[in-house]
Amino acid sequence: MGQDRVYNFAAGPACIPENVLKQAQEELLNYRGSGRSVLELSHRSKLFEGILADAQSSLRKLLNIPDNYKILFFQGGGTGQFAAVPLNLMGLSPSKSADYIVTGNWSQKAAEEAAKYGKVNIVCDTKATKYTEVPSRDQWKLNPDASYVYYCANETVYGVEFQEQFDSTIPIVCDASSNFLSRQLDVSKLGVLYAGAQKNSGTSGVTVVIIREDLIKTPLPETPTVLSYKIFAENNSLYNTPPTYPIYIAQLVYRWLLDLGGLPEMERINVEKSKAVYDVIDSSDFYRCPVKKDSRSRMNVVFRLPDTDLEKKFLEEAGKRNMVELNGHRSVGGIRVSLYNSMPLEPTNMLADFMREFMDKHKRE
Ligand SMILES: *Cc1c(COP(=O)(O)O)cnc(C)c1O
Repeated sequence: MGQDRVYNFAAGPACIPENVLKQAQEELLNYRGSGRSVLELSHRSKLFEGILADAQSSLRKLLNIPDNYKILFFQGGGTGQFAAVPLNLMGLSPSKSADYIVTGNWSQKAAEEAAKYGKVNIVCDTKATKYTEVPSRDQWKLNPDASYVYYCANETVYGVEFQEQFDSTIPIVCDASSNFLSRQLDVSKLGVLYAGAQKNSGTSGVTVVIIREDLIKTPLPETPTVLSYKIFAENNSLYNTPPTYPIYIAQLVYRWLLDLGGLPEMERINVEKSKAVYDVIDSSDFYRCPVKKDSRSRMNVVFRLPDTDLEKKFLEEAGKRNMVELNGHRSVGGIRVSLYNSMPLEPTNMLADFMREFMDKHKRE
């Protein structure tokens, strides 16, 4: 790790691979002999077109994205897509309704936003069990006349992650903001996937949308141009000025992943990292993870200590060892360890060691 850099376990914007930062630094003042920074490149220039094309082809390779899917880049974050999804897709069926699987605050927010533009069926909601599980498939009944079914693959605040994809006769929309590219995924099972880059695949400012071509239809009439899948698809995401620098960082992250061995290798590392932390939790009475074992996130490991004073102390002592941003989301408290792709195995093991040490020092007899 470079001098003076801390171990950043933030949930997002999160750490970025050090090699990516170094390459961006090297190229910051003069990108490939152009005498200019990427920050200063016209989005209509050949150089930027090259960055965009490479980002798309690298992502296609990483995820094995079939030819009948388009890759689009939007601004507005995941929250922008909460509106874009219903605006673009509610009209796919005459019912103008959509099914929402609510497993945490992000899918809850998405459902609330969608209700502004059409009818929302909440097909299941795990609020009663405090968002600690992915309900099994037989607990939710999808409506065959809905325009789409929506789910959040990884609930970042509650640390709940779908371990498997599911089948459906209506198009599936997936918010993958916080586990995008962390594991293998069958894109052909999805109608639309979107992910804000700042959690696991770059920096804030760009949101990737992967969409099956036959779902790109005329959106609801009130749709803002900057959220129209149709206009962005027709203009290869260059209808207006795209977030050029975040797209460049995403391109570097995709290349970093390909060099590492792609998603099978990344998934293997992520399994090992999350296991290191969950093993400490499960072998103790000191730490407690509220999430059901089969629903636990590999990306955001949440847990509690016996009381909030100890949690405060835990955060302080971790900070002294340069391990930062371990606090749980402000709405739930506790501890949250975000183990995105860019967090290497070594600091993860350091954290697990620290957890054991802290427990030995503070556990009550
Ligand atoms: C962070 C997050 C969002 C919201 O993203 P913004 O870019 O802040 O709008 C949506 N969904 C998930 C799963 C997230 O983790």
